[in-house]
Amino acid sequence: MNVEAVFIDRDGTIGGTGHFIHPKDFNLYPFSKTALEVLKDNNIKTFACTNQNRISRGQATIDDFYNEFIAYGFDDAFICPHSPNDDCDCRKPKPGLLLEAAKKYNLDLSNTVFIGDVGSTDMLAAHSVGAMKILVRTGWGQSSLDKYRDTWVGIEPDYIAENLLEAVNWIVKLGTADKKQ
Ligand SMILES: [Mg+2]
Ligand SMILES: [Zn+2]
Repeated sequence: MNVEAVFIDRDGTIGGTGHFIHPKDFNLYPFSKTALEVLKDNNIKTFACTNQNRISRGQATIDDFYNEFIAYGFDDAFICPHSPNDDCDCRKPKPGLLLEAAKKYNLDLSNTVFIGDVGSTDMLAAHSVGAMKILVRTGWGQSSLDKYRDTWVGIEPDYIAENLLEAVNWIVKLGTADKKQ
């Protein structure tokens, strides 16, 4: 598989707690910088893909988040600022953010990978566009696999990783295996 891009969720995947944390107070997990560097070293584009409904309540701005992601080394960021009641097309599990990225970067989404911690948003969104899916056990990941498994029934992640770095290493191995064939 030629991986064209990797989409990465924010809360519970690259850092934080799985709950809203303003970008000025957000901390990455210790391995997240390395994970992003590994993707960069392998010439794989990295896109943040996140629901941030507190933007709709005025608790942060899109730019606060966008600038945060660029500072971490992401190539771009796709952010849903809406509340669940807005019925927008971009709030995960809707595929709007992924479709927007595909259009902007001319991606074949079946050659992309999504890494996230929530089954009912991240995994469902990725599944709906045919992207490869990796669930990390950080954040809500473990509870997505047990307590909340009924919210994304019938969908299996392609891989379950301990964390973002393990997920990235798995992706890089995929690409390498492809080149050897
Ligand atoms: Mg998350
Ligand atoms: Zn939205």
